[in-house]
Amino acid sequence: MSDCLFCKIVEKKIPAKIVHEDDRMLAFDDIHPQAPVHTLVIPKRHVASIQDCGAEDRDLLGGLLQTCTKVAKLKGLTESGYRLVANTGADGGQTVFHLHLHVMGGRHMGWPPG
Ligand code: AMP
Ligand code: ZN
Repeated sequence: MSDCLFCKIVEKKIPAKIVHEDDRMLAFDDIHPQAPVHTLVIPKRHVASIQDCGAEDRDLLGGLLQTCTKVAKLKGLTESGYRLVANTGADGGQTVFHLHLHVMGGRHMGWPPG
């Protein structure tokens, strides 16, 4: 999608601090980190949100989660723990409509989120 910010990051048209990249997934640090570790994990293929995924996307979603655990390991979060977040739609607080999971850690995460 030509007007999608994260597609532009995939295409390297916008710079990002890349943490992990493979043929299907990209992980890069959030530009406005809300925790000492705050990395976004996205599929390279454009999907607007988790709500737009169907049965045909099961493998993609599994790969997305496994990339998150890889990022957590790379960032040294496996002992201390971390939070995965998928903001979805307006009430979920989603601002970029290209599916992404936030990997957040390095501090205690409060509950419930505001
Ligand atoms: P969400 O609110 O769940 O849609 O999250 C979108 C996230 O993308 C926010 O945490 C933003 O800080 C982050 N973000 C926006 N622009 C960029 C960018 N150019 N590079 C990295 N992260 C970004
Ligand atoms: Zn996109």
